Amino acid sequence: MHEYSIVQAMFDRIEETARAHHARGVRRVSVRIGRGAGVEIALLRTAYETFRAGTLCEAAAIDIEEVPVRWGCPHGHGELRIGMGLSCAECGSPARLISGDEIILDRLELEVA
Ligand SMILES: [Zn+2]
Repeated sequence: MHEYSIVQAMFDRIEETARAHHARGVRRVSVRIGRGAGVEIALLRTAYETFRAGTLCEAAAIDIEEVPVRWGCPHGHGELRIGMGLSCAECGSPARLISGDEIILDRLELEVA
């Protein structure tokens, strides 16, 4: 499943960071997921719960912030409002995705010895 490979990659990053800081464990994990990233938040949570047993994240809560999809004009005419279609009202250019496709490991709270 897509969400499992995302969480797996996330854990690799977390362990790498925790090691670099000589952390004993992780207290909290914060991630930002774009609504357009094709990620099912509930599945991501389930994958996280499945993976964290026996890892540095065993006791870590996860915060998931959903980022709305936003489109804008590539020529600086600003953000497009939802329902206006996917081209700029001013110049007709096809819209560019500003945000909403990201999968970001935003913050880690580490427990340092
Ligand atoms: Zn424009």
